[in-house]
Amino acid sequence: MYLGKNRFTITKIVAREILDCRFNPTVQVDVWAGDDVWGRADVPAGRSRGEREAWELRDGDKKVFGGLGVQKAVKNIHEIIAPALIGMDVRDQRNIDLAMIKLDGTPNKKKLGGNATIGVSMAVARAAANACNLPLYRYLNVNAYVLPVPLLNYINGGRLTSNDLDFQEICIFPVGAETFRESMIIGWDVYNALRDILSSKYGKIAVNVGDEGGFAPPIVSIKEAMDHLVKAVKVAGHEKKVQYGFDCAATHFYDAKKKVYKFEGEERTNKDMLAFYKELIKKYPIATMEDPFDEDDIEGFKMATEQLGIQIVGDDFLCTNPKLIRERADYCNALLLKFNQIGTLSETMDAAESAYRHKFGIMVSERSGETEDPILSDVTVGINAGQIKTGATRSERTVKYNRLLEIEHELGDAALYAGRMYTNPF
Ligand code: PEP
Ligand code: MG
Repeated sequence: MYLGKNRFTITKIVAREILDCRFNPTVQVDVWAGDDVWGRADVPAGRSRGEREAWELRDGDKKVFGGLGVQKAVKNIHEIIAPALIGMDVRDQRNIDLAMIKLDGTPNKKKLGGNATIGVSMAVARAAANACNLPLYRYLNVNAYVLPVPLLNYINGGRLTSNDLDFQEICIFPVGAETFRESMIIGWDVYNALRDILSSKYGKIAVNVGDEGGFAPPIVSIKEAMDHLVKAVKVAGHEKKVQYGFDCAATHFYDAKKKVYKFEGEERTNKDMLAFYKELIKKYPIATMEDPFDEDDIEGFKMATEQLGIQIVGDDFLCTNPKLIRERADYCNALLLKFNQIGTLSETMDAAESAYRHKFGIMVSERSGETEDPILSDVTVGINAGQIKTGATRSERTVKYNRLLEIEHELGDAALYAGRMYTNPF
């Protein structure tokens, strides 16, 4: 057993290629401090990615995993990152991340791979928390106590399914629950009511699930999908406790050449889309909308933020990038926080800090390609975020909910479910 400084000294970094929930390769990193403390992190992967995300380094050798292997990223960790970090204090997160940023030297982590740097960065934080004998959320913040409202993605569309629904995520938002546990009970009731509604209307095939574990029914119309979800909430008896939210992921149905949105079989301008969003908000109690316009449609985002009167979340629009948040702070009012979009924990914390200082809400988010690692739950509580989005069913999603249930239990009376105060729980 090491005492003093040695217990916190990085002695070894081991990376390997593992598989995510889509059976695609991804990076796993173990960081060792002293002889017997270590921390592990898995790197998730997006499918509907923003243009300005940190670079995801893939091997490109089509004969192995169709080119998606991550052996180059693993090699970069062993041969470039590890020699630079060994000997550093595992608690010195900022300097560790800075060292990787300097070693990389590109604006988007293209040399080392954002999937290499974020894996090391998160594993460093885990190892440091373990060395301090603290749960990660507590290591990140002595005052962490907020449990987030989950945005439960019960009808999947867009790039995450094989149906023709243009929005990527149609979700319930149980803001009226008293505790995180109650939000899960509401979630169970609605999910099962929805299963019955969808299978009786469209047959058994309609309750197959998409990449994030929500149903992927053969529906084209958003209003039709919403009517089923609203009915499920009613059948489950939770109307007073549930609002709704979307990830429109509009970048992925935008035709940049023609400058039109190809939506529900028609070509629409951003003004047409805005009018459609207004109709939706009039008809349903919608609290939050992510990426309602293409990632470079500043005019669209500005109109949405000024005219819709709900939370407008920037995902592809902000890419968890502090510089983009500064530049675009007038055009949305909430940040979707995905740590692999930026590539280090320190920069992720900068993005969160910047968002709070712009009076934004923060929703911490999974990627559609996840692993069994629940680290984002600790980060969510660690920054008192108020909102989390981590899909619906299947273990790579429920592991995040399970970690939040564990944290709520551990915090006991100190836990505060953000509820209707999801933008600012204080
Ligand atoms: C999203 O767009 O919000 C999302 C979770 O999908 P992906 O991880 O594929 O970017
Ligand atoms: Mg999104």
